[in-house]
Amino acid sequence: MKRYDLRINGEWVKPSSNEWFDTYDPYTGEPWANIPLGTSQDVDRAVLAAHTAFTEGAWPAKSPSERGLLLHKVGDLIASNAKRLAEIEVRDNGKLFAEMYGQLTYLPQWFYYYGGLADKIQGATLPLDKKGYFSYTRHEPLGVVAALTPWNSPLLLASWKIAPALAAGCTVVLKPSEFTSASTLEFAELFEQAGFPPGVVNVVTGFGKDVGAALSSHPLVRKISFTGSDTTGRVINQQAASQLKHMSLELGGKSPNIVFDDADLDQAAQGAISGIFSATGQTCIAGSRLLVQDSIYDVFVSKLIAIARTVKLGNPMSLDTQIGPVTTPPQYRKVLDYIDIAIKEGAQLLLGGKAAARAECGKGWFVEPTIFGEVNNAMRIAQEEVFGPVLSIIRFKDEDDALDIANDVRFGLAAGVWTQDIARGMRMSERLKAGTVWINTYRVLSYISPFGGYKESGLGRENGIDAVREYLQTKTVWINTGASVGNAFVMR
Ligand code: NAD
Repeated sequence: MKRYDLRINGEWVKPSSNEWFDTYDPYTGEPWANIPLGTSQDVDRAVLAAHTAFTEGAWPAKSPSERGLLLHKVGDLIASNAKRLAEIEVRDNGKLFAEMYGQLTYLPQWFYYYGGLADKIQGATLPLDKKGYFSYTRHEPLGVVAALTPWNSPLLLASWKIAPALAAGCTVVLKPSEFTSASTLEFAELFEQAGFPPGVVNVVTGFGKDVGAALSSHPLVRKISFTGSDTTGRVINQQAASQLKHMSLELGGKSPNIVFDDADLDQAAQGAISGIFSATGQTCIAGSRLLVQDSIYDVFVSKLIAIARTVKLGNPMSLDTQIGPVTTPPQYRKVLDYIDIAIKEGAQLLLGGKAAARAECGKGWFVEPTIFGEVNNAMRIAQEEVFGPVLSIIRFKDEDDALDIANDVRFGLAAGVWTQDIARGMRMSERLKAGTVWINTYRVLSYISPFGGYKESGLGRENGIDAVREYLQTKTVWINTGASVGNAFVMR
């Protein structure tokens, strides 16, 4: 088994615990690598390295254009390592190779985009209302960023944080999920290979309650960028509030995918399937509530089940597999528990509803693609994030009814609308309380498009120009060009 070390200050270092823990392949259920068990002492070393790199190291000495060039170089290195990194991710999280390779080959774009943005971060000269002064703003980096990531798309979600943070001039300590740390450790090495000074990007692995908590509460960390469950997000936000740290939170969802009777039903069925079953339902944007208009309910549901029935489960490395295993044993149990809850709540089980015992699933943690019909939006299966291949179908009458149901949830990450009436699509998009609305598509993302949650799905935005602002603070400079200082006791 491969044994990793921590990546701190541009070097591989052993954890101060001198202990390692196993990381598992969800398809075989077997351990395949040893991950260093970091401690609060290791967090301290990593944060100090990042702080030194920020305050006195070579990082602040680099011009924004030089930082941009380094981001481009790391993008190139990701491109040439995409296959290797994708294979590691599949081994750790069981998602399809096709999906992870697609993510990894797209990932360099984040570094090219934010590399291009690095020397376009500029303040403004202010058109003042007061005579005898000149004033301008500067946008300065916040400092050391703690980036905490979940297990479902480790490098994609880490890059959504690291690329804009580095473009802004911040330094980073990254803490990946304890279930999927290997790819992040491999990834960290590429930064020094690209020519980043040591300490600019560091990785400490270990468990959330130890390493994660030590990192997010470290006094030298000025900004926390967290992606994960709303439960953990709430805990971190409370801690951070006591130290007044800046905060971005990308949390869970219970996104509605709404199908009107005037939609192209074949396209909508594909969109509904992709919305819930791709990545085995383990995406924050999963379209886990499918809202179907009354008049087409039976025909649409039959169409959907016909497709879902043929889905191929199996080895995530095989290119013809469509659904891989659930990533972790606790998540596997959670998904099966929610299926029981839905049955007890009276939802109508239309497909699946159990662990998959197909030969091609080996010893992996597989759940059959599961569809519940006649779900009531008040049921737990409609209100709580399952994060697995479980779809809840809910009927609606008209636009107002669809909106009431869609918005009646504490989350607000994404929503889909399927209709051939573009005016209706736009009306819906205005009234849906979600950070992303897709019309006649689902699950499309870009480095250019801001992404984030309404309501309890999060705070702040990732991607696009908005993301770089999350790592900057504004300073205003005043210059007296001839005004009298005047009465010292009166504000000018
Ligand atoms: P999680 O909250 O359990 O863990 C996320 C990270 O936080 C991990 O690195 C973990 O070790 C760390 N952590 C755990 N407890 C901590 C603590 N007390 N202090 C500091 N750090 C701590 O989430 P998960 O189970 O890994 O991921 C699944 C969740 O992530 C789902 O809810 C999903 O919706 C969400 N998610 C959101 C987005 C988005 O962009 N909105 C994207 C992907 C996943």
